[in-house]
Formats: sequence, structure tokens, C-alpha cells
Amino acid sequence: MSDKKEQIEQVPKREKPTFVDAPPGHAGTGFFATNADKVIGLARKNSLWPLPFATSCCGIEFMSTMSSHYDLSRFGMERLSFSPRQSDLLMVMGTIAKKMGPVLREVYTQMAEPKWVLSMGACASSGGIFDSYSVLQGIDRVIPVDVYIPGCPPRPEQVIDGILKIQELAQNESLRRRYSKEYEDLLTKYKID
Ligand code: SF4
Repeated sequence: MSDKKEQIEQVPKREKPTFVDAPPGHAGTGFFATNADKVIGLARKNSLWPLPFATSCCGIEFMSTMSSHYDLSRFGMERLSFSPRQSDLLMVMGTIAKKMGPVLREVYTQMAEPKWVLSMGACASSGGIFDSYSVLQGIDRVIPVDVYIPGCPPRPEQVIDGILKIQELAQNESLRRRYSKEYEDLLTKYKID
């Protein structure tokens, strides 16, 4: 019995896993104070709901990023949404034909604020190899883009890097940004109300 007890005591104690770092603030005995921007930024960062707008091969690479090996769920993203009203990250992957431009724009405008846009791969970012009359030469001609991922197709690691950049933006964005003159001007430039 005592041997068993000794064995149990020898097992090193596992540290409690930390998934999310606390935002900067002031801590003391029994209190922690920070500001609303930081708390909301932390929540937004860790609860992004992506809408995958996949039209071709980059979409397959995204499927790989979602599956068990790369496991995008680690970033709180297992809840993909195909409803624009319940998403805050539009991920555009694949060749976007000019005819699809208005559809993409419609999806973007249906998303509630705050929202972010990730352009994955050469086609979505610049038309890629398809420099033709029918292909949109970059989705930033119809909607504003926050992060671009280069490559044809990008590796899942690059997609994860792009997601981390979006998370950084979401965490550090001021709550006032969406009401600012600069943001209003940006949307006006795209003729979005
Ligand atoms: S960037 Fe390459 S892999 Fe991605 S959709 Fe275009 S052709 Fe396909």
C-alpha cells in the first residue's frame, strides 16, 4: 500500500493548461482591473466564426487546414458558418469570376459588424494566373480585405498564420474603429452603406 502511495507521489503534478492569456491590467489581492476594449478584444479574438467562401482548389487546402492534422479548432474556429449573419470572418478562397463579384459583395454586406476579411491564395488576392476577361483581379476590387495569404495554393501553415494575424487585428481593434471617420470613408470608397 505504502509503495503505491510513494508511486503516486512520484508522478509529477501537471500544470493547469492555460488557453488564453489574460489581457494587460492591474492585479491585486482579490481583484483584476483592465479596460473594456481589451476584454472584448480578447473575446472576439478567441471566438471568430468563419464563413468559407470557397470556389476552387484553395478551398480544398482549407479543408485540410480544418481537418484533424492541422485542427483549426484549436483557435476556437470549429464552428464554420454558411450564414453571413452569423459570421464575423469572411474567408475567400479560390478564383472569383467577375460574375461572382456582386455575390461576394452581397455576402459581405449581410455580415454584421465587426467583421474581418481574409483573402486566401493568389486567385482571391490578385486573380492569380487567370489574367483573363472573366476573372476578378483581386477581391479588394469589391470588398475591403484585412489579411492576404500568398501562394498557389498556400500551405495550411500559411492559412494558420493568416488566421493568427486576423486574431491579432480582432484583439487589438479599438471599439471605436467601426464608428470612425476612416472606417466610414473606407466603406464609402467601396460604395457600401
Ligand atoms: S491560388 Fe492556386 S490553388 Fe488557389 S484557387 Fe487559385 S489556382 Fe487554385
